Amino acid sequence: MAHFSANVHEDIKKVLITEEQIRKRVEELGAQISEDYAGKELVVIFVLKGASIFFADLIRSIVVPIRIDSIAAASYGNTTKSSGTVRIEKDIETPIEGKHVLLVEDIIDTGLTLSYLKAYFERQKPASLRVITLLDKPVARKVQLVPDYNGFTVGNEFVVGYGLDYAQRFRNLPYIAIPKDYVWNDEEKE
Ligand code: 5GP
Repeated sequence: MAHFSANVHEDIKKVLITEEQIRKRVEELGAQISEDYAGKELVVIFVLKGASIFFADLIRSIVVPIRIDSIAAASYGNTTKSSGTVRIEKDIETPIEGKHVLLVEDIIDTGLTLSYLKAYFERQKPASLRVITLLDKPVARKVQLVPDYNGFTVGNEFVVGYGLDYAQRFRNLPYIAIPKDYVWNDEEKE
């Protein structure tokens, strides 16, 4: 088992995106969405668990009327690689036929999870379906998928924080970061 410090910040090697940068960008995205959907109502669906923090901040920057819902999707495979086989573990409760739907994701990596979810929602005949992601990792893409809204573009490295986990840890970091090397393996930390 990897070893974790008593204070989660001590297991971080590098902060990539600060709390302040996230706050500013989330406000910009909320303002853009409010403008794009002016006069309409939105169903905002977030993907559990990673997108929960982003979603909670984002919807408070949106001024058009919204309903919220969530979906949990698990992809088979190990913790840092997506396999492409997606299983829905918790479905939405809101009927979305004829509704404007915004799907909120934490990060798009291979794009396999999101393309599955997009097809799943399209079959329910929404009036429109758009995707917003906090982070985009375009170099890792295996299927063509461009988010309608993107917070930040990142390189091909595994990031944690602001909802994103490694082995279910680090979701409570208020920033996006890279953990120290010992987090990935079984070695004792000094
Ligand atoms: P995709 O299907 O696009 O490859 O994977 C999307 C999911 O993989 C994300 O929702 C997230 O759960 C996980 N993921 C992909 N890259 C990262 C990363 O850098 N950090 C974390 N914490 N999760 C990631």
